[in-house]
Amino acid sequence: MPEKATGNPLQAGNQETSCEHCGAFVLKNSNKCPRCGKFPALIHKCPACGSIAPAKDANCWKCGRMFEPGSDYL
Ligand SMILES: [Zn+2]
Ligand SMILES: [Zn+2]
Repeated sequence: MPEKATGNPLQAGNQETSCEHCGAFVLKNSNKCPRCGKFPALIHKCPACGSIAPAKDANCWKCGRMFEPGSDYL
């Protein structure tokens, strides 16, 4: 069986988020914003609907689910 390249591995996990301070795109596994250097900020990712919310929010702005303190962070 000849091997075929299936898909682009770079698309598998697009681990990008945005800086809370300047809005620049930052890779999830980086520890600094390349633009302002203030990253990371803690950001919630709602397990229910997948929305991104600031860590200071207690509930999802979209579906209202309460975030678990200390978890649900990106
Ligand atoms: Zn920034
Ligand atoms: Zn939600």
